[in-house]
Amino acid sequence: MAATRLTLISTEDGRAALASQRVREKMAERIGQQGVRDARVLAAMAAVPRHLFVDAALASRAYEDAALPIGHGQTISRPYIVARCAELLLAAIREPRSATVLEIGTGCGYAAAVLAQLFGTVVSVERLRPLHELARANLRPLRLPNVRLVFGDGSLGVPGQPPFDGIVAAAAGAELPAAWLAQLRDGGRLVAPLGSSEQRLVVAQKDAAGRVSQRTIEAVRFVPLKPGTG
Ligand code: SAH
Repeated sequence: MAATRLTLISTEDGRAALASQRVREKMAERIGQQGVRDARVLAAMAAVPRHLFVDAALASRAYEDAALPIGHGQTISRPYIVARCAELLLAAIREPRSATVLEIGTGCGYAAAVLAQLFGTVVSVERLRPLHELARANLRPLRLPNVRLVFGDGSLGVPGQPPFDGIVAAAAGAELPAAWLAQLRDGGRLVAPLGSSEQRLVVAQKDAAGRVSQRTIEAVRFVPLKPGTG
């Protein structure tokens, strides 16, 4: 009896896994239609099981293009925006597999898992201890050896590292913290939301001589970048 039940359970698991794979592929297709063209990014979006990063009660909504609550007043970002930011970073990095990128605002760890499909090393910093721990627990079963989670105030970047090839922020401040630009390699790119009630996604590009130029991509809506830790 026990064996039968186990078989049944594993068959159900298998079906559920297949179903979620199809739903993810559909999600990636939709993101393509929304204008994200980089096939590497769409493949990463189709690969990472977003339902494992939300509360079980919200799992059925995990593949909607919506931000969902993850507790502590924070959200998991919309799949489209995770993909868009990843694409903007990738476009500036010639050898992504040997690049190190910094994510500000780990939240539940979803975007870190997506970035880990694309870049050599991902360092992700979170200021809320319970979310830092949640991300650790969410990422564990995925066994991604190239993700490093840091607890701290990401508006200071992550000091003591070699400069990053790319930086992406998941929380919006009124201006770009100086530490981010200071920790960005010459030739590197920062992708971040800026503003409070009205926000826009900006790309700050450092040229080979370290000069920074900034351009606006589109209107966005992120949680606020907050100082300190909690
Ligand atoms: N990357 C997440 C998005 C989480 S929402 C995803 O995959 O969906 C943004 C996160 O930024 C929140 O968890 C919030 O606590 C965090 N945050 C805000 N200000 C921060 C700061 N100064 N340093 C680090 N994290 C910060």
